[in-house]
This record gives sequence, C-alpha cells and structure tokens, in this order.
Amino acid sequence: MKEILQDLNYAGAEELVLSLGEKKFRAKQLFDGINKGKRLSEIPALSADFKAKLLERFEDCPVEIIKTYFGADGTEKYLFRLADGNIIEGVLMKYKYGNTQCVSTQVGCRMGCKFCASTLNGRIRDLSAGEILSQVLVVNALHAQGKTRGVTNIVLMGSGEPLDNYDNVIKFLRNVTAEEGLNISARNISLSTCGLVERMYDLAKEGLPINLTVSLHNTTDEERARTMPIAKKYKIKDILDACSNYFEKTGRRYIFEYSLIEGENCDARHAEELIQLLKGRPCHVNLIRLNEVKERNLKALGDKQAYRFLGLLEKGGLSATLRRQIGSDIGGACGQLRAGYLDGEE
Ligand code: SAH
Repeated sequence: MKEILQDLNYAGAEELVLSLGEKKFRAKQLFDGINKGKRLSEIPALSADFKAKLLERFEDCPVEIIKTYFGADGTEKYLFRLADGNIIEGVLMKYKYGNTQCVSTQVGCRMGCKFCASTLNGRIRDLSAGEILSQVLVVNALHAQGKTRGVTNIVLMGSGEPLDNYDNVIKFLRNVTAEEGLNISARNISLSTCGLVERMYDLAKEGLPINLTVSLHNTTDEERARTMPIAKKYKIKDILDACSNYFEKTGRRYIFEYSLIEGENCDARHAEELIQLLKGRPCHVNLIRLNEVKERNLKALGDKQAYRFLGLLEKGGLSATLRRQIGSDIGGACGQLRAGYLDGEE
C-alpha cells in the first residue's frame, strides 16, 4: 500500500507541497480537494505534473464505496474497500437535526464480545487516521449541498474498538475537528468503548470535548464476562471511576449502552442493580435492541419486556431511552454487513 495523504493535517500538507517543490498555496488547493472527498487524480486545481508526483507516493483514493444499501427510513449502509482490499462498513442515519455517520476504526476487532459480528474473525488491522477520515469524506461528498455538510455528526461505533487504536483515533479526531478540515464540532462526535480503563483516562486529558459512550451490557463483572471477555480485565467499578474522571475533566455527561439480551441482562434484578450502579451520576442509559447475529446463539428481548425494563429504570430515577431501531431492513449492526459480504465471496 502507498501512503495515505488523508493522514496529514494542514501543516503536514504544507510541508509536503514545499518538499515537492511547489508553492505553499498549493497546499490549500490540495487540502480543499481532499476535504471535498475527491480522488487525488481528480483535484482540478492541481497540475497534471504535480498530481503524478503525488500519485507515485500516495493512494489515489484510500476508501472507496463499493456497495450502498438504502433503507426505507432513509438510512444508508455502505461497504467500503480499502486500498489493500480489506472491507469495512459504515452507516449514515438521517435525523431532523442532521446526518450522523457511524465509522469503523479497525478491520475486525479483537475484543471478542459474544453478541457482535465484528469480532467473528478477530482483528485484521488498525485503520490509519486518514482511513477513518476518508470514510467521512466520501459519504459527506455524496450528501453535501453547497455549504451544508452532508455529515454533521459522527459516532465511532462501527467495527473495531476505538481505544484499541488510540493514536490513530486521536489523530483522526484532531483532523476532522480542525478548522481547515471538515471542522465538525467535537461535541457532535461520540466515541464508544467497551471500557479500556487506562485509555479512558488518557482520552480525558486530550482536551477534545467529545461524548464518551461505554458499552456496559450487564451489572456484575461475572455476568458481564459471559458476553464480554474484556470484563475479566476491567471491573465495572473501575470503568465507572474512569467515567467520573471524564466528567470532571471535560464537563461532559457520559452514556452507557445496554443491549438487551434475553436471559442474560434484563431481569427486574438487573434493572435494580443498574439503578444502584448509576443513580445520581451525570449519565444517560441507551437501551439497544439486540441485532441477532446468526453465528451466535443470543436472543433479543421482546418489545414489551424491553419497554418494561425501560420503565423500571425510569422509575428508579435514571435517564434512559430505548433506541429507535433504524435501518433494520438493510441488515444489521457492527460487522454484520461485512461478515455477510465475506461469506458471499467464499
Ligand atoms: N468497540 C466499541 C464500539 C462498538 S459498536 C464498543 O464496544 O463500544 C457500538 C455498540 O453496539 C456497542 O455498545 C456494542 O456493544 C453494540 N453492539 C455490537 N453488536 C451488537 C448487536 N449485534 N446488537 C446490539 N448491539 C450490538
């Protein structure tokens, strides 16, 4: 694979342009072209000569959409191909206030959560900052209208564990929020983690006021470990302490994700324990309907019981919502598209 130009920030682009013997103002043309989601070879302002030089060293287009699935509710799911042929996936969800894109941070994942399709073949490799950014650039280009962005919000909730690819994810966050770049507000970005405690403390120190979301999915360490192997390493108590620290350092409320799995985590006792764990904390609980993964033997909780569980949490004083299911007609969450695609290929 060649280098990825989208890894560079504006200062890096300036340096590159000068090192190739071009005038400094070319950096702006180059950077603007990239941020419009163009292939290198398609940036109109640059001379053929300069583009040829760039293309010797850099990928023309590090992330390419190879398939789009359109949901009845406007949701779009994408299969992306990376320059080395690896496949990742992403989603764009349309809301009244704007469009939220879900991006992947790794090819596959090594966290091993039993309900998640991303982890079926383990982690293949990390994505670079520019590969994460390029997912946004190509989708934004599809939906941008004039000066209105096509992507207004970003969630790092696709395949991969973002805090397991820490440096690249931080670089991506700095670049996507940069004024010369897409300039998306950090407050419109959410990062979801299964709870890598040390990295949660690191994140709090970065000075990036993004929303922190933690995949909790159970109330005791023993039960949590049944579906989330990482629970053997990090205790719920330590995760909650790291969340408190995040709030102290950033002033941002945090969010817990809780996917309802029949017989695993959603009895009345779990509701009670969840209330005890979280009461009084500046947090919100997002209940998620399990997307059943065909390779795994876990069942989603029925709708009626899901609302009952939500009711118990609310009665106990928690701020909670049951997430509206979006794009369910176009197949799955977190790695299910890619898994299906790889299956079909074999
Ligand atoms: N690695 C990060 C991002 C994962 S995806 C993390 O663990 O948080 C975002 C959320 O979807 C996580 O809460 C994850 O646990 C959940 N999830 C994954 N597969 C799911 C499925 N099949 N059904 C419901 N939720 C799922």
